Amino acid sequence: MGPSFEWRLQVTLMSIAGDRHYDVTRSTCPACRKLVCARIVGRDGRVLMVTACPDHGESEALISSSEDYYLESLSCLSRGSRPREFARTVSGGCPDDCGFCPDHEQHVCMPVIEITDSCDLACPICLVENVGQHEMSLATLKEIVARLLDSEESIQVLNLSGGEPTMHSGYHKLLEYLAGIDRIFRVSVSTNGVRLAREPGLRALHKELDVVVSLQLDGFSPDTYERLRGPLELARTKQQLLQQIVEEELPASLTMTLVRGVNEAELGQVLDVYLAHDNLLSLTIQPFTHAGHGRGFPHDPLTRITIPDVIELLRTASRGVLRPSDFGPLPCCHPACFCQTFLLKVEGGGWLPLKRLLRQGDYMGLLENRSYMSPDGENLERIRGMVYDLWAAPAEEPGSADGATRGSGSAVQPAATLASAASADRSQRDGALRTIKRIFKEIDASGIPGPKRTVRIVERRKKSIFIHQFMDVHTFDLSRVRRCCSVYPKEDGALYPMCVYNVLRRCR
Ligand code: SF4
Ligand code: SF4
Ligand code: SF4
Ligand SMILES: [Zn+2]
Repeated sequence: MGPSFEWRLQVTLMSIAGDRHYDVTRSTCPACRKLVCARIVGRDGRVLMVTACPDHGESEALISSSEDYYLESLSCLSRGSRPREFARTVSGGCPDDCGFCPDHEQHVCMPVIEITDSCDLACPICLVENVGQHEMSLATLKEIVARLLDSEESIQVLNLSGGEPTMHSGYHKLLEYLAGIDRIFRVSVSTNGVRLAREPGLRALHKELDVVVSLQLDGFSPDTYERLRGPLELARTKQQLLQQIVEEELPASLTMTLVRGVNEAELGQVLDVYLAHDNLLSLTIQPFTHAGHGRGFPHDPLTRITIPDVIELLRTASRGVLRPSDFGPLPCCHPACFCQTFLLKVEGGGWLPLKRLLRQGDYMGLLENRSYMSPDGENLERIRGMVYDLWAAPAEEPGSADGATRGSGSAVQPAATLASAASADRSQRDGALRTIKRIFKEIDASGIPGPKRTVRIVERRKKSIFIHQFMDVHTFDLSRVRRCCSVYPKEDGALYPMCVYNVLRRCR
């Protein structure tokens, strides 16, 4: 018997002249969604996924608009931290054994629980497909959470999603239950904001329970909302809700879906609003993904927005305050999935990217196997150690080389850090150090506050910007989903990497 069709196809693909060959994986055919052989190649400074379906032929999609960024990010891949328990065994092979099966390489950083499939909008770019037939009961939610806490020591952020979660008929009870769990440090709710804008009682509930309102905010222009979400008056609703969130001091975060040719120009305004208010705790930018209801939204897989494009947009939008070197992949999942930067509040004004303050190894160490720079006990002690070293170090002139490693003032991180004087100037560095000093003072004054309280002490003095590049049928990559830490926990006990569920399971 001769070589299989797929093998022959692969060899043919590998021989295309001019491509730099980086990897072979399994992806999906955009026409039939079957798993097919795929190649990841560099071409003209970009990185492409080239798939070949026996029935529908070859297709190509852009994975990264910068080959340099892609290659550099791969060097940040760290060893995963596997969960304590696996709900499934390995039988059919990935991705049929979700999940998790023992082949999975990472634990859960962020569970996203879909509590309803009802929504008061029908966004043309919706990642899911709402049919309005399902509502999760409190008892089921409790079972899901119990299973999560069996396999995870703690959960940094648990997200409720949908549909529109606030439309759940027992929403108050679900929130009350989740907010009372100590081992869940933060509960957030992904919302379009329509109900929140018109119901003061609902906003008060979030404030009282300290639940983060994760607001979908694609910009401020009516035209953007008409194209991406349907009703153009949503622009006014979002403005109104943002004002309420700020005035009423609700803990909140912003999520912007960025679509080529629609709302790139609005990123600057979103960033400005985000940085201006301490109760806006994180900003997530999601390049548009051709999944769920959004499969019908016109788009070209070869000109899509990718992570390096967003970094460049942020650089411009921040008027140079943010630099490409301030960003890096999250080492917990696959480096092509997430990119982040963390900013520290500078006393006296402004924000300083943490990467300019710490050495690369220390910075990545703080993030290892977590999506969030969580100030839990271990991380906090590491930061404390690094900061002692920074204080001990003489301030250096901007532009000089990194100082030599100092003797450590920390028991935790012996050969710890020195500020990168090449990137953080003296006054900014001092301002940021004063912020950290204040944080530790407050923590120390609270006795042993526990991680949940510590998170709250720290979070209003830092900013987190994430770029989350979900996959779709054009870019699906099995090697990425095996590292996934953002999952949908389902009622039957399964944990699905979000991209597996969105691309392969939802509305088959
Ligand atoms: S994605 Fe992970 S859990 Fe799912 S089948 Fe593959 S290895 Fe197993
Ligand atoms: S994207 Fe969100 S708000 Fe829009 S239809 Fe989907 S679930 Fe509803
Ligand atoms: S949800 Fe998709 S893009 Fe996000 S970490 Fe998981 S596999 Fe990667
Ligand atoms: Zn096909």
